[in-house]
Amino acid sequence: MDTGSDYLLDLNARHSRAFIDLAMERRRYRGEHPTEIAALKCMDGRLNLPVMTRSAIGVIQPFRNLGGKFDLGWPFFQATMDNWAKYSISRGRHCLIFVTYHFARGDTHRGCRGFNYDTNAARDTAIKLKNQFERIYGKGAVVPILCGIETDLDALILHGEDGRAVDLAEIKEGIIGLELEGMLKSLYPSMPERIFKDLLPLVEGNIRHARMIRTSNRPIEEAEHKEWVLGVGRGFDWLHAINTAFIVGPFDPNLANAISTAAVLLKDNIDAKRVDQSGIILMTSAAYREIGPEHELAKEKARFLSKFALDVVKERVPDLVPHLNILTGCTDMNTRKFEVLERLDKVSNPLVSKAA
Ligand SMILES: [Zn+2]
Repeated sequence: MDTGSDYLLDLNARHSRAFIDLAMERRRYRGEHPTEIAALKCMDGRLNLPVMTRSAIGVIQPFRNLGGKFDLGWPFFQATMDNWAKYSISRGRHCLIFVTYHFARGDTHRGCRGFNYDTNAARDTAIKLKNQFERIYGKGAVVPILCGIETDLDALILHGEDGRAVDLAEIKEGIIGLELEGMLKSLYPSMPERIFKDLLPLVEGNIRHARMIRTSNRPIEEAEHKEWVLGVGRGFDWLHAINTAFIVGPFDPNLANAISTAAVLLKDNIDAKRVDQSGIILMTSAAYREIGPEHELAKEKARFLSKFALDVVKERVPDLVPHLNILTGCTDMNTRKFEVLERLDKVSNPLVSKAA
């Protein structure tokens, strides 16, 4: 029988094939819309922005963490964002950052578990982060926008410069072209023209997508908390299956706390019999782009993070340890392919472990 690790590797392989198949389309699109776009968001599997904006995967670079909580004071996070911004600007590109929070219009309990379903708290935290970006980068080439992600209709809520919010699921059928541009201009009067032109197709994509979700009467996806994967590290943008993973980015300096929070939630899922207790996986990924030292460093990082996470679980949530399977590797950001470095099915029983 296929194990959870087999499922994850198969999901990654399929995503990677689609990502490679879309390379030409992405290049063409990036030629027309050169702004580098990042999204800071919660690890919740429902927040699939490429689907929601009908954009090719890879156009929006996701940064995910528990609750979508980030702080530009975090040393590793600020270095990552600053390198990203500097690299983009050195290539003559603008940067657009979606600073997001999420909720569901039909029921607060389908909102963000990372904020105990308190949408106001989630939004306030996102506003603080957006203000941080503005304080640091000014109003120039790096533009953060506050964006709610409403998961019942997969709609974006755009918060304008004057605090006004527009729910893209509520945009009337006939509003397109110049009228839509006028509406967006009134939300973002100081946004550089280049960024505006590159934001527009994502907004149009989301309006069409949300309308389609509404007319198709898609059944509500309950956030039932059946997660069985603890994902640690980067390169997980292929892992968007709902109720599957808690993803902890490597950004939070209190990484051990973030890992133990996720581990406690996984243990809760086992105790409540919502998941198969033998199928829990600690999956660690480090991302790289170039063969050579960068790839080698990614391998070292993945092995380190995996051991670090396992040590945190052993110390703080020891009851979870007998249930853990281990999958460690690195992700080639050019192909999104996950390369397995270590695979251990059941840490408690070394007899069934096997190296990949
Ligand atoms: Zn969340």
